[in-house]
Amino acid sequence: MLKTDILIIGSGISGLFFAMKIAKKRPDLSIVIMTKETAKNTNTQLAQGGIAVVTDHLKDSFNKHIHDTLRSGGGLCDKEIVNMVITQAPERLQELIEIGTSFDKDEKGQWNLGLEGGHSQHRILHHKDSSGQEIESKLLKIIKKMPNIELLENHMVIDINTETKKAKTTCAGVFFYEKKYNRIKYMRTRTIVLSTGGCGQLFENTTNPKIATGDGLAMAARAGAEIADMEYMQFHPTALFTGKENPLFLISEAVRGFGAHIVNDEGKRFLFKYDIRGELSTRDMVSTAISKELQSSGKKHVYLDCRHLDPKAFSNQFPVITAHCNALGIYPEKDLIPVVPAAHYQCGGVRVDKNGVTTIKNLYAIGECARTGLHGKNRLASNSLLEGLVFAHQASENVDRTIAEFIFSSQILIPKFPKAHQVDDYLAFEILKKELQKLVTAFYTSEERDAELAFEKIKELHNYAVSLTEAHEIMIPFIEFSNMIAVSLLIIKQCKTATDQKIC
Ligand SMILES: Cc1cc2nc3c(=O)[nH]c(=O)nc-3n(C[C@H](O)[C@H](O)[C@H](O)COP(=O)(O)OP(=O)(O)OC[C@H]3O[C@@H](n4cnc5c(N)ncnc54)[C@H](O)[C@@H]3O)c2cc1C
Repeated sequence: MLKTDILIIGSGISGLFFAMKIAKKRPDLSIVIMTKETAKNTNTQLAQGGIAVVTDHLKDSFNKHIHDTLRSGGGLCDKEIVNMVITQAPERLQELIEIGTSFDKDEKGQWNLGLEGGHSQHRILHHKDSSGQEIESKLLKIIKKMPNIELLENHMVIDINTETKKAKTTCAGVFFYEKKYNRIKYMRTRTIVLSTGGCGQLFENTTNPKIATGDGLAMAARAGAEIADMEYMQFHPTALFTGKENPLFLISEAVRGFGAHIVNDEGKRFLFKYDIRGELSTRDMVSTAISKELQSSGKKHVYLDCRHLDPKAFSNQFPVITAHCNALGIYPEKDLIPVVPAAHYQCGGVRVDKNGVTTIKNLYAIGECARTGLHGKNRLASNSLLEGLVFAHQASENVDRTIAEFIFSSQILIPKFPKAHQVDDYLAFEILKKELQKLVTAFYTSEERDAELAFEKIKELHNYAVSLTEAHEIMIPFIEFSNMIAVSLLIIKQCKTATDQKIC
């Protein structure tokens, strides 16, 4: 029967970094990483701007980075966590560098530090504009060499099984779907680490890839873990507008840090009307200002203006962005780039302590699916890759200290439906997904949020999805859609509570 000491769900920065650290520290433990598609299909892979770390102690300081983070978080950050993450950052960065991750340097051999919205100093280490891809590939390379790690791609975890003994609940295993054989199986485990990323796919316009459906959050909630701060979804102000795609291609914050302006339909800069930091204000401020401008102009998008920037330096710093724009016939040196705000980052998530432990003691949550207290209302740009590293480290230390307390459950569960039903027509679920995205977006962006109406409409969508399935079968698109429904309900519920308490 299948079993592993540690099961990691997700192959982004947090899951892989955790795996690397615990595998080195505890070669005696067996470790499995399951990921629902190919290993690189993550939010991490798409990260452009880079990772915020204080490296220049002459111009910058931990205190300045802490201050910027707290300011961006709108008074809702946990100061102890902010302090821990920012002061630990150089050590975690060093570990990435030791496995071969490369970050850009200038001609003097110093870090070529980027500037992003909300940061008072240049402090973003980056690899051109493909920082995430660089980190993901170096982590995957090392993971594949470690003898006590097994990486299982195309393995979608469906649910966590918990056991309660003497009023103490622990997680005992998971049901998962193995795409290749279209079968559902059960694996026992002593510890589970959720590193399943965010839920941007709940929104009509998002920068998040298709995998970002909030599965980990929904599973944790079903298992009884506490979820917090889901009312704070971060919108990135500058996703490329084409009117067609979801996900939308991101134009990194670093482009504004490099000197680009945001202009309206008349070619005028307008952000200073809303915040004296203009283009370099925090994401929530810039996104809100753009939304207001669009409401009053009735237009679909605003523009990024890069025409005054040195074209050679621009394409050298942002080769991926330049190539993507060029492929669409947009040349940043002479054309305006159409942009809109898009759902980008889930600030809330599964509530954890400073070691990534959820309210269920052998269930961990790290990376974007976790609510650690670092981000408050609004994550400071380039703090999330950092958070993933620091919490992966913290969790690995804690698993090492505590795993002896958790033994394998003697219960071996047999899936009720060992085969998933192969659906010929996934289209019905795609349509339902679009309806849900419309509904959640309309609710979230409305000034007069009507939670009761949203609950009702979501229930209708859910009932419709149920009618597409038979009682005696498991359908994979239904499972993912149900997770999206569960997370939508959590967002609406937590928005409603916050509005009732007048804190949102
Ligand atoms: C376009 C873009 C640009 C960004 N740029 C930056 C940046 O410059 N700097 C920064 O700090 N942050 C950036 N972010 C945010 C950052 O990339 C993410 O917050 C971070 O990478 C999340 O990492 P993670 O380890 O939590 O999960 P992810 O990288 O999102 O990985 C999630 C993993 O979980 C797996 N998974 C999900 N559900 C299941 C399931 N049911 N079963 C099995 N596996 C499952 C997925 O397949 C995937 O492997 C950016 C995000 C985007 C979308």
